[in-house]
Amino acid sequence: MAKILIVDDSSTIILQLEHFLEGAGYEVVVARDGTEGIEKLEEHDNIDLVLSDINMPKMNGFEMVKEMTTKKNVKVFMLSTEGDSRMIKKAKEAGAKGYIIKPFDHDELLRIVGEATKPA
Ligand SMILES: [Mg+2]
Repeated sequence: MAKILIVDDSSTIILQLEHFLEGAGYEVVVARDGTEGIEKLEEHDNIDLVLSDINMPKMNGFEMVKEMTTKKNVKVFMLSTEGDSRMIKKAKEAGAKGYIIKPFDHDELLRIVGEATKPA
């Protein structure tokens, strides 16, 4: 089953995502800010998808996705409460391949993650 790295400074979001994703059989790795996200990606060489918040301490999601996608061929989706087109454009320019707006629906999230981790 696919392995997913969740990066978010909200414990509530982390718990919710872990619950949804582990419940669906995914292996989950957690980081609580952008710098920890980079570390976890380096520790685990088989991350299939990164789901990341934007507003986080130390290193925000935009900086993190830029660094991750420069170093590795990894798929990153942003998760944010901010749904305006400028933020989405900025995320894509930083290297994000998808953008999920919070709050997210359980079934919708699993559909998106399933699609994103489907073997090519
Ligand atoms: Mg946040």
